[in-house]
Amino acid sequence: MTFDVDLFVIGGGSGGVRAARIAATHGAKVMLAEEYRMGGTCVIRGCVPKKLMVYASQYHEHFADAAGFGWTVGPATFDWPTFITAKDKEIGRLEGLYGANLVKAGVEIVAQRATIAGPQAVRLADGRLVTARHILVATGGRPSSDDTLPGRDLAISSNEVFHLPEQPKRIVIAGGGYIAVEFAGVFAGLGSEVTLVYRGSKILRGFDEDVRDHLMTEYQKKGIRLVMGEVFTGLTRKPGGIAVAFKNGHAPIEADQVLMAIGRKANTAGLGLEAAGVTLGAGGEIIVDEESRTSVPSIYAVGDVTDQVNLTPAAIREGHAFADTVFGGKRWTADHAIIPTAVFSEPEIGTVGLSEEQARLSGCALDIYKATFRPMKHTLSGRDTRMLMKLVVDGETDKVLGVHICGPDAGEMIQLAGIAVKMGATKADFDATMAVHPTAAEELVTMRTPSARYPKG
Ligand SMILES: Cc1cc2nc3c(=O)[nH]c(=O)nc-3n(C[C@H](O)[C@H](O)[C@H](O)COP(=O)(O)OP(=O)(O)OC[C@H]3O[C@@H](n4cnc5c(N)ncnc54)[C@H](O)[C@@H]3O)c2cc1C
Repeated sequence: MTFDVDLFVIGGGSGGVRAARIAATHGAKVMLAEEYRMGGTCVIRGCVPKKLMVYASQYHEHFADAAGFGWTVGPATFDWPTFITAKDKEIGRLEGLYGANLVKAGVEIVAQRATIAGPQAVRLADGRLVTARHILVATGGRPSSDDTLPGRDLAISSNEVFHLPEQPKRIVIAGGGYIAVEFAGVFAGLGSEVTLVYRGSKILRGFDEDVRDHLMTEYQKKGIRLVMGEVFTGLTRKPGGIAVAFKNGHAPIEADQVLMAIGRKANTAGLGLEAAGVTLGAGGEIIVDEESRTSVPSIYAVGDVTDQVNLTPAAIREGHAFADTVFGGKRWTADHAIIPTAVFSEPEIGTVGLSEEQARLSGCALDIYKATFRPMKHTLSGRDTRMLMKLVVDGETDKVLGVHICGPDAGEMIQLAGIAVKMGATKADFDATMAVHPTAAEELVTMRTPSARYPKG
């Protein structure tokens, strides 16, 4: 049987773009459909613009801290439209690069929505039917919304937050995950009055408890209002802004913007997956095996649409492994174990491996090493902030099971600590590594006495 293409990729985000490019370099005839903008969530409305916003938000503190080092900085002002224009220009440049690199590799891009018309057929929005030996679904995720919330249309999601015409003076953010937490830090740094509302008792569920506590303390020091154990009951348009009402007794709050960052859902609605026989999970995510195969042998899926590890590097690895395996004669799978990650809060979090709580559930003997200290820079700046470093160590094998950092450059540090943890380094290996002095990171190799010890069981 002949097909129009060897591979049809639905979605031009992190996973789809990598898979399409690698498959094409292996000689496959590849077509890729993108309904919005090339680059997907990460480039257009995720990691990249978010990190640029984080940078923008940090200058405020840099200017203030400079005084302790003898600098006199004139009155600093921030101009939202100037920043948004610069950010959009950079995003546009990256978008162009993504498209150009695909075309250079020989991929045909169709700028429209595609849906699945059968196990080996794709329907384009213009009505065209394209047959494909293999189909890769890489449609990512989208922000979850609370459809039952009265006035929900008054709120924005992370999709819109990058394009606000003006900086909100007051913003209420719903959610306790990393996206909510990061935007709370961004807007606080830019000078907005920020309220972070979360239904649980602490932000960043799943992270090490010390890290969660540490960041909450730091956020409070920055004046971010943390409203825990609360949920919205409704949003109402008022002359002065949007009024937010709460369920558990917190007084209503008025804001200029309300950002809902309450989670993300796999982007599978209306894709025609069920009709083609693809099995979906309870949340609408595509169920795949470790080689990214769905229940239909010709259809594969990578990235957020599978709701496994919803991070760009994971989508990229899965897409690359898929293309090498199916088109390059080189079989391998993306390894989802021990993934270093960062939260670009202020201060940043870097984490890899098991939290103390997760390690305790495993029942092994544990040694916990913990240090909190004032970063050297702030001895002169006078800023009231502390850094946290924590190692979770197997008490029997001495293997480092987890590293958790909250402080400046934690994201950069954890990439390197991640290599050591992935390689199975022991605490003795950390200790045998000479410190880099004077740095904050040296604390990772100089912690001598456990702050807690747990016996086996
Ligand atoms: C605010 C925010 C911040 C983030 N920050 C980070 C971070 O710091 N680090 C990190 O690692 N990850 C981060 N992420 C997560 C990261 O963006 C995703 O894990 C990653 O983009 C997933 O890639 P993907 O290829 O699976 O999907 P996506 O990048 O979402 O790409 C899917 C693409 O498919 C397109 N599409 C969907 N349906 C169709 C269709 N039917 N036809 C044609 N096209 C279609 C979409 O328009 C989209 O472009 C962040 C996400 C958000 C929302």
